[in-house]
Amino acid sequence: MVAWGHPKYRAQQVYNWIRQQGVTDVALMTNLPQTLRAQLSEFSKPRSLEIAAEMVSKDGTIKRAYRCADGQMIESVLMPYKDGRYTACISSQAGCAQGCVFCATGQMGFARQLTADEIFEQVAIFANELQQQKDQQQYIDAGGQEIQHGRATRLSNVVFMGMGEPLANYRNVVKAVNRITNDLGIGARKITVSTVGIVPNIVKLTTDPDMPPIRLAVSLHCASDKERSDLLPANRRYGGLDELMPALRDYIETTGRRITLEWALIQGENDNADSARTLASLVQRYGLRRDMVHVNVIPLNPTGGFEGTPTQRQNVNVFVKTLEEHGIACTPRVRRGIDIDAGCGQLTSKIQKKEAHELQSFIPSINSASSIVGVYEDDATVDDDDAAHNFVLHSNSVDFESDEWDDPTFSSDADEQEAARIIALVQGTTIKLDELE
Ligand code: SAH
Ligand code: SF4
Repeated sequence: MVAWGHPKYRAQQVYNWIRQQGVTDVALMTNLPQTLRAQLSEFSKPRSLEIAAEMVSKDGTIKRAYRCADGQMIESVLMPYKDGRYTACISSQAGCAQGCVFCATGQMGFARQLTADEIFEQVAIFANELQQQKDQQQYIDAGGQEIQHGRATRLSNVVFMGMGEPLANYRNVVKAVNRITNDLGIGARKITVSTVGIVPNIVKLTTDPDMPPIRLAVSLHCASDKERSDLLPANRRYGGLDELMPALRDYIETTGRRITLEWALIQGENDNADSARTLASLVQRYGLRRDMVHVNVIPLNPTGGFEGTPTQRQNVNVFVKTLEEHGIACTPRVRRGIDIDAGCGQLTSKIQKKEAHELQSFIPSINSASSIVGVYEDDATVDDDDAAHNFVLHSNSVDFESDEWDDPTFSSDADEQEAARIIALVQGTTIKLDELE
């Protein structure tokens, strides 16, 4: 505003229109002078993400594919709960370099880091839409009381469980988390960052004063190095369980916060009582307090590039029971959006294939066996620590050029070279949509 010769408070006015009123059309920002409105419509964009596809599941889950300004595709999911709460599941990278064999995003490869704006926007768009719905449901009664019609809708939780590895885009995730708490009033404890186990950045976030006290979830899936490295190559890259588990113990002891361990049950691989016992002894061996660990189990979502199949329901029960017998709390999670490819990376990979091969339709037929996928439910608790709305101005402009790969930190040249090799490898496999067009 100042560079354009306008007073500073104009920035706050624009911000209020967008954040408080949900208005992004500058023509409707009536308290701004005409010259400023003309400048804004010519030189600014209220958001950088464009909806490329949207699907709504029978269970109410909404899955979106957004096209970024440079053509990259990312995904966000909105999951409603009966009490009017909503959880947004968002992406932190376009693609992912970690190469977990069962993951649609991993199979796609890494394209680029998302900017802090792109991460924040995914949350802000859902929050704005829910806010608008809420406004429509409210009216003032004769006595001046605000009455709510129907359910109160609000975005209450955010999970970083969409595409990408958030701790491999550490700097932008920290910025985005700060904006989500400050601008949208979503408490840090309602934000879950899920990681495959980028150990140096788990260590970093344990004491990072810039990272709000989010919940940490770790995708463990296997409790032995051999099995884990086969499914999640990142296990080997970051020194195996011998590095990961002590980092988690330190995290718990230093922050006093519980962690979530994620476990996708694959038929005949990690879904029996023995696997559950191995997990319990892993937790004990590395001295993690059992009451500070919570395990989320979910049947695998089948993906095209992986042969494994989801476990049977009775195995879920055995796994959960065995863990509980060993004093570890465990929640079997419901798969959401099973009819709409709501699993991480599923929709984007379909759209990419459609655009590449000009298939007639990418919308899977409901109930088709091939489209049975889902996403994690969040592990929201009932505590209500919603931060007071604290509106702050930020100057995060989208700048793809300066978005260099500087995370994670590597302890040796060999690690760095290995990461560079993997990034180059997966970049070569990523379909660039703008090139196709
Ligand atoms: N990169 C982060 C966050 C995104 S993935 C991570 O790996 O934790 C979010 C969760 O979905 C992770 O626990 C991941 O292991 C899990 N996931 C990925 N593909 C899956 C599949 N096909 N079935 C079940 N869970 C899957
Ligand atoms: Fe990346 Fe997570 Fe998928 Fe692994 S599971 S490839 S870390 S998005």
